[in-house]
Amino acid sequence: MFDSLSQRLSKIVKTMRGQARLTEENTRDMLREVRMALLEADVALPVVREVLARIKEKAMGEEVVGNLNPGQALVGVVQRELTAVIGGDLTEEERSLNLRVQPPAVILLAGLQGAGKTTSAGKLAKYLVETMKKKVLTVSADVYRPAAIDQLKTVTEQAGADWFPSTPNEKPLDIAAGAIDHARRRFYDVLIVDTAGRLAIDEAMMREVAELNTFLKPAETLFVIDAMLGQDAVNTAKAFHERLPLTGIILTKTDGDSRGGAALSVRHVTGKPIKFVGSGEKLTGFDAFDPEAMASRILG
Ligand code: GDP
Repeated sequence: MFDSLSQRLSKIVKTMRGQARLTEENTRDMLREVRMALLEADVALPVVREVLARIKEKAMGEEVVGNLNPGQALVGVVQRELTAVIGGDLTEEERSLNLRVQPPAVILLAGLQGAGKTTSAGKLAKYLVETMKKKVLTVSADVYRPAAIDQLKTVTEQAGADWFPSTPNEKPLDIAAGAIDHARRRFYDVLIVDTAGRLAIDEAMMREVAELNTFLKPAETLFVIDAMLGQDAVNTAKAFHERLPLTGIILTKTDGDSRGGAALSVRHVTGKPIKFVGSGEKLTGFDAFDPEAMASRILG
C-alpha cells in the first residue's frame, strides 16, 4: 500500500537540512506529495489544483523544522487548510439545518438514483424526530418507481415520523401540493420531500426536480451524493448545482472504503456546506459533518 501522507512528508523534511521554514523549493516537494495523496483519495483534478494553491499560499514561510516533529508539523499545515476548505471555515450555523421559517419547513432531497436519497430521508426524519423533537411528515414524489414509495413508507415508520401517501398515477407537483397542504393543516414542523433520480443526469429529471423546488420553496434543498462516486462527483454536483438552488449536501455511504475525495470535490463545485454524512443502511448511521475527520481521512 501507499505510505501515509505523514510518512511521505517526514521523508521530505529529512532532506530539508538546515532550513527552518518552508521555502519555495521545499514547498514544491511537499505539494507534490499532497497532490498525490489527494488524487489517490479521488479528489477531482481541478479541485486538487485549487486546494494546492491555497495550501501553498498558507504554508509558505510557516515554521516547521524547529518543531519537535517537522513531518507532523507539515501535515498539520496541510490538514488545517484542507479542513478549512472542506467546511471548517464555516460557522456552526452555516453547517446546520435551517428550519427558521414559517412551518412546515420543507426539505427537498435531490440526487441520482442509488445515491441514498430515500435512506437519507429516513435518517433525517429520525434525527429530526428524536434529536430535534420535530413533528415530521415525509412524501415521495418518485412516480417512476413504486418500490421507492414503499421504501420511503418503511423508513418513515422506522423513524417514528408520518408518511403522506402518493401513487405513480399522480404528477409530482400534485403530490407536493397535497403533501404541503396536509402538513399545514396538521401542524407539521417539517415536510421531507424525496424525489426521483436517474442513473445519469437527464434533462427531464432536472426540469421536474427544479419545478418541484420552485413550487415548494424549500427551507433546505439538499443534494445527496454517494461518497464512493470518486471523480464523477464533480460532474454530477455541477449538473445539480446549475439547476437547483442547493442549500447543502448529504454525503452518503461513508462506511465504504473510499477515502472521501468526493466530499472535497462537491464542496468545491457547489460552494455549499456538507451538512450530514450517512454511513450504513440502518437509520442510526447519520451524523453532522465533521470537516476535521474528513480531512484526516482524505489525507490518509
Ligand atoms: P435513492 O435511489 O437515492 O433513494 O437511494 P436509496 O436510499 O434507495 O439507496 C440505494 C442503496 O444504497 C440501498 O441499497 C441503500 O440501502 C444503500 N445505502 C444508502 N445509504 C447508504 C449508506 O450510507 N451506506 C451503505 N453502505 N449503503 C447505503
